[in-house]
Amino acid sequence: MTRRGMLVVDRGLCDVNGLCVEHAPDHLRIDEDEELEIIRAEVREDEREAVARAVASCPKAALKVLDAES
Ligand code: SF4
Repeated sequence: MTRRGMLVVDRGLCDVNGLCVEHAPDHLRIDEDEELEIIRAEVREDEREAVARAVASCPKAALKVLDAES
């Protein structure tokens, strides 16, 4: 069994300041409509650290990694 995570954003909290994007550019980007886009929600074990930095960088606490098992 592999532990993986699922990255989610609360759009009601996110003010699209882009601070998280630089920490996890494989998962997050600001799109053409100036919205935060989750490019890939699945977080592999080896990506957890980078994504955790992105989550911690958010001043709005809008990002979360939910645990999932497969
Ligand atoms: S750091 Fe937080 S508020 Fe800023 S874009 Fe990312 S999720 Fe949104």
